[in-house]
Amino acid sequence: MFDGLSSKLERVFKNLRGYGKLSEKNIEGSLKEIKLSLLEADVNYLTVKEFIENVKNKAIGEKVADSLNPAQQIIKIIRDEMVVLLGDNEPLNIKAKPPVIIMLIGLQGSGKTTTAGKLALYLHRMKRKVYLVPADVYRPAAILQLKKIGASINIPVYEPSEENGKVMQNPENILQNALNIAKKQAYDTVIVDTAGRLEIDEPLMNELKSLNNKFNPQEILFVADSMLGQSAVTVAKAFNDALNISGIILTKVDGDSRGGAALSIKKTVNKPIKFIGVGEKLSDFEVFYGDRIADRILGMGDILGLIEKAQESIDEKSAQSIENSLNKKNFTVKDFAEQLKMMSKIGGITKIAGMIPGFSKIKDKFNPELAEKEISKIKAIINSMTEKERINPGILNGGRRKRIATGSGTAVNDVNIFINKFEEVKKMMKAFKKNKSGSLKNINNIKNIFNKGDFK
Ligand code: GDP
Repeated sequence: MFDGLSSKLERVFKNLRGYGKLSEKNIEGSLKEIKLSLLEADVNYLTVKEFIENVKNKAIGEKVADSLNPAQQIIKIIRDEMVVLLGDNEPLNIKAKPPVIIMLIGLQGSGKTTTAGKLALYLHRMKRKVYLVPADVYRPAAILQLKKIGASINIPVYEPSEENGKVMQNPENILQNALNIAKKQAYDTVIVDTAGRLEIDEPLMNELKSLNNKFNPQEILFVADSMLGQSAVTVAKAFNDALNISGIILTKVDGDSRGGAALSIKKTVNKPIKFIGVGEKLSDFEVFYGDRIADRILGMGDILGLIEKAQESIDEKSAQSIENSLNKKNFTVKDFAEQLKMMSKIGGITKIAGMIPGFSKIKDKFNPELAEKEISKIKAIINSMTEKERINPGILNGGRRKRIATGSGTAVNDVNIFINKFEEVKKMMKAFKKNKSGSLKNINNIKNIFNKGDFK
């Protein structure tokens, strides 16, 4: 996410480290580079101009904490300005009398239908009773897609009547019927997936306007494809002018290395980004917090995001069993397997790593594919161990190691390496027990253990 911009900015900050004090003269070159980095990231030109002006005034005019060196001072000022650009978190307006209507609008391919599923899953986890409504009557495939998504997360989907592959209801009719059902079934939140077009056109806007006038949704969220950079911002503005949207959901942020849309859309459209889509899976969805994103762009990690992701992805039972394993005197291979499972639930080592502070600095040395490969090998080895061996790996003699290697399709040496690594983790777990605040260091250490490429 935004790593192209991150690494460019990092280079600028590195050059700043040589200065003793900030002055207009010595930061001029750096500001120019920052400006260029932002323009290359496809941030709106006027936004960049104002941003640089603000940073410059603050850097020379204001007294920044003496304890910070020039590079840190500039980073702090840039972070503060970036937070302003990205915007504060604004929660969904869902307190109204149910059923609350959330309408998703946007161009075809922006990720609207997927986002409808993601939002449904997010609200379902917040204990809302969600009803999904497909209102794209021009593409029966879109209705089918939403039905599939709903089925995969156990969320009911309204079914418009169809004859010979043609939808027989208009969008207003669909939404009216769906609302009647929602009231009867006590669904408190109705998410409407509206039709999209490849470009903005009059009939689409009129259809959306009349849905808006008739049903007055609590939220009209514009779904914007972050990969489109400035053109996503232009389209968002057009939709906002026509419909007065309540917020933005930025999708495909995982594939966007530049960040231009994220950094310009709030200021240009003057509406908050409420969520971001960070992958194709329905759980790849995050509440948007400008300060956390600024931290990620500036390579400072996003610890709160990481913790929230962990809380969302792990059910209470596994959280409990992990906690138990951390508190147990004897850390076993079984506990270790549980932790690996947790890691892949959160989204795999690559996703976790990106949210760890300072990670950007060692990114080049980290090979996520290698790490994931090693973890699959370890999983296979653990699967071939007996219950007794998992609890007490001390009993693993040569014969047992050979059996495990054959069973897991690995070599005896792999099993030996695994046992050594396990002992390292076990030692770390002991240290962790003594000092729980060491947990982050712990993740970092675990990562390093699996990133050596020992397995051939
Ligand atoms: P719609 O035409 O606006 O309804 O778009 P879809 O929901 O069908 O999404 C279009 C494509 O984008 C699909 O292949 C989705 O899997 C993909 N997609 C949607 N959101 C994201 C996201 O946040 N990250 C990634 N990588 N892909 C996404």
